[in-house]
Formats: sequence, structure tokens, C-alpha cells
Amino acid sequence: MSAAEPTRILILGGGFAGMYAAMQFEKTLARDPDVEVTMVNRENFFLFTPMLHEVAASDLDLTTIVNPARKMLKRVNFFAGEVEGIDLPSKQVRVSHGFEGHEHTLRYDHLVVGLGSITNFYNLPGLEQRALTMKSLGDAITLRNHLIAQLEEADSECCRFKHPLLTFVVAGGGFAGVETIAGVNDFVRESLHAYPHLTESMLRVVLVHPGPVILPELGEKLGAYAQKKLTERKVEILVNTRVEGVSEEAIELSNGTTLEANTLVWTAGTSPNPLMESIPCEKERGRLKVNRFMEVPDWPGVWALGDCAAVPDPKTGKTCPPTAQHALRQGKVLAGNIQAEIRGGRKKPFEFSTVGQLAAIGKRTGVANILGVNFSGFFAWWLWRTIYLSKLPRFEKKVRVALDWTLDILFSKDLVQFLTVRAPSVSRSEEDPPVRAVSEVVARRG
Ligand SMILES: Cc1cc2nc3c(=O)[nH]c(=O)nc-3n(C[C@H](O)[C@H](O)[C@H](O)COP(=O)(O)OP(=O)(O)OC[C@H]3O[C@@H](n4cnc5c(N)ncnc54)[C@H](O)[C@@H]3O)c2cc1C
Repeated sequence: MSAAEPTRILILGGGFAGMYAAMQFEKTLARDPDVEVTMVNRENFFLFTPMLHEVAASDLDLTTIVNPARKMLKRVNFFAGEVEGIDLPSKQVRVSHGFEGHEHTLRYDHLVVGLGSITNFYNLPGLEQRALTMKSLGDAITLRNHLIAQLEEADSECCRFKHPLLTFVVAGGGFAGVETIAGVNDFVRESLHAYPHLTESMLRVVLVHPGPVILPELGEKLGAYAQKKLTERKVEILVNTRVEGVSEEAIELSNGTTLEANTLVWTAGTSPNPLMESIPCEKERGRLKVNRFMEVPDWPGVWALGDCAAVPDPKTGKTCPPTAQHALRQGKVLAGNIQAEIRGGRKKPFEFSTVGQLAAIGKRTGVANILGVNFSGFFAWWLWRTIYLSKLPRFEKKVRVALDWTLDILFSKDLVQFLTVRAPSVSRSEEDPPVRAVSEVVARRG
């Protein structure tokens, strides 16, 4: 082709779904001058969520689990901005970016919707205002800073109400909640040596879970094992209990009791990206319904995948679960299907059975179910680290994570709070007399 317009593929979202589709295009269509592939994402990096709790718990440095999109994509165009609106009839997407958030319109021939999910507080009173979340890199950094701030405040001699400062609550006993509580527990207990006025007996670490056993995805046996191990490490686990609201004074629980805590991390609910509501297609619990090839019915050229899409699973007859394992594989298959549409060829239905699921539960202990076989203890933890390290994109980041893990054996956890406040400054005219150094004043007096 020569003067004709290139075929435009627009990917919305640079998480597991969008980024793996883009990486597949890097090897295929993005090499073709007749095809233009663009990915839009809010952040300029790809976040590896399975290791997020390690950043919050100070096991890993802040940027080790993120990769700059521009280093991952050489041929696919990258647009750092916010998707504001999707207009299917006119085949265009409204995006904003820049310091003042000005808008652009991006046109497409093929649209890939991979905008993921957001935290859902279910309108519970006070939660949105007071609870911390665990979804983004910013969330992990905020939690880490928050934990350190509580310890600093509680350690000060003038602090009279230490109890709420030293009570740490996580709501939700799924993977994110269990890994977070385990990380928080290890972090606050291992940091105590640096705080002379605090003792272990002052700490309270609580996991609130609505079901009878935590980690229901791994089955009762591994859930019970994880529960036993965490309890041995002094984590209180409240099963069959829900958080019903948070006020300035306390967290209200469904069992009629309250917890006086300054820290509540909410991991107990997600919803598909709210932009899905504006898309005039059939949904399943808010996720865009797609066919086996991840096409949105009735809208040729529109595709959806990952946490924001309801992709049918032919093996179970249900919808694929919202996991990174599924999202990244859907990305690869979907990119192949768009290639088949453009160049001709057979589209492939998405088929994948979960190979295994793993969770790190602190202190070099893990739980895992791989191909139906249960593992627990050190071996499961080692599997967790080995498998996720191998999945982390880019060699540079693998090396950084491996180094951090190695140094973690030798040194205690870092307690530096990452503040973004500007250093004190002054704006003084040339005529103003300079402030003399103290040494100078003393010398003159002498
Ligand atoms: C703490 C935690 C731990 C997890 N651990 C595991 C695990 O161990 N194993 C596993 O399989 N899964 C795990 N998951 C689930 C996994 O992260 C998700 O299933 C996966 O990220 C879904 O991929 P996605 O691309 O659909 O969505 P996401 O990865 O959420 O990506 C969506 C992207 O879209 C961007 N975006 C959203 N809205 C806009 C907008 N308006 N404009 C621009 N950009 C936008 C977001 O910034 C994001 O980059 C975990 C999740 C969390 C939160």
C-alpha cells in the first residue's frame, strides 16, 4: 500500500491485558508500515500487581515492579493520558493529557478495550474517605508511608493514644488481602527494633474476611493452613465477618463489635472500569460481554479483554476469572485475532485453564496449588518467588528484584518515608541584608 491511510489499532489500558496485546503487536503488525498501533494508559508504566504487597511491606524498592511503557514498546506508539470517553458509532476515543488536561480525539479501525477494574466500596459509610486501597503503585507507596507514620507517631513520648495507631486492619481474605496482611504484619513487627518506646504486645494486626476460610480460591485445606500460619504469627483472623462502616472513632463490624484503628486497607471488592457503563453493549455484572474471540457482538472492530470483559470460558461454561494469568494470555490471542482480521487467516478462540495459583503469606512461607497439587510452607514460597520473578517483564527489573530479595536476607527493612514536600526556600530581594551564619555572629560577639 502507498498513500492510503494506515489501519489504526487503538489499545485502551496498559495493564496485563493491553500491554501483552501491545507486546504481541510489536512482533507482528506494528512492523507493518500500513498498520499503526497505539496504546493509551494513565500511567507511563506497566505495573506487576502480584508483587505489589512487597513494595508496601518494604521488601522491594518502589520502582522494581514497574516497567516504563516506552522501554517495553519500540514500534507501538504510546500515549500517556486519560481515556475520557468511547464513542463506538463514530469510531473514536476522547483522551486528555498534559498539565492542563487538554483533550484529543483518537480514531480507530480496531479498538481494544482493556481498562481493567477499580476498587468498589459498596457505598459502605466512611470507607471511600477513610480506607486505603491496594490497586496501584501509588496505593502501595501510600500504605508503606502510612505504616511508617503510625510507628513514628506512636513512638513519640507525648503520644497518649497509641492503640489506634498500632492497630492495622485489612478487609478481604482473597489473594490481595492475605498477601497484604502478611506483608504488613512482618513489616511492623520487624521494624519495632528501631522504635524504643514500642513493644510487640502493643501491636494488633487483624484480617476481616466474610467467608468461613481465607483464600477460598485455593480450597479449604490451603486456606486453613494459611490461617493457622498467620495466627501463629499473631495475626487475628475474623472469619464470617464484614466491615460495615468506618468513622473517625472506629471500624464497625458485622458481628456487632468495633475496632479502634487508624489503618484499614480495603481489598474486599472490585468493579469493572466505570467507563464500561457508557458503552452501549451487553454486560455481565458490568463487564463487556464478548464472544470466544473477544469480539464485542454487533460492533465490528471492537474487542475487549481482561478484568473489564466477560470472556467465556468453554471449559467451565462460565466467565474467565479476573486474573493476570488470564488477561495476559487473552492479550496475546486477541492480537493474533486482529492480525487474522487484517491479513486474513483463522481467528483463535480463547482457551486457557489456570495452571496454578500461589500466595506468599510472609516469613518465607507460601501456599500454592499447581496443576491440582497443593504445596505449602517454604517450598510454596520459593515457587511463588521463582515463578513470579520469571514472569516479571524485562531482564533489568528481574535483576533488581533478585538483588533486593538477596539484600533483604542481610539487612533489616527500610523505614524511610517517601515524602514529596519541597525543601524550605526563601525569595529575598538583592538589597535585603543576608542572614549571617551563627558562627559569624558568635565570632563578632566574642
Ligand atoms: C494487589 C493485587 C495482587 C494481584 N495478584 C495477582 C496474582 O498473584 N495473580 C494473578 O493472576 N492476578 C493477580 N491480580 C489480579 C490482576 O492484577 C488483574 O487481574 C490484572 O491486572 C487484570 O489486567 P487488566 O489489564 O485487565 O487490568 P489492569 O492490570 O488493571 O490494567 C488496566 C490499565 O488501564 C489503565 N486505565 C484504567 N482506566 C483508565 C483511563 N480512564 N484512562 C487511561 N488508562 C486507564 C490503568 O491505569 C491500568 O494500567 C492481583 C491484583 C491486585 C490488585
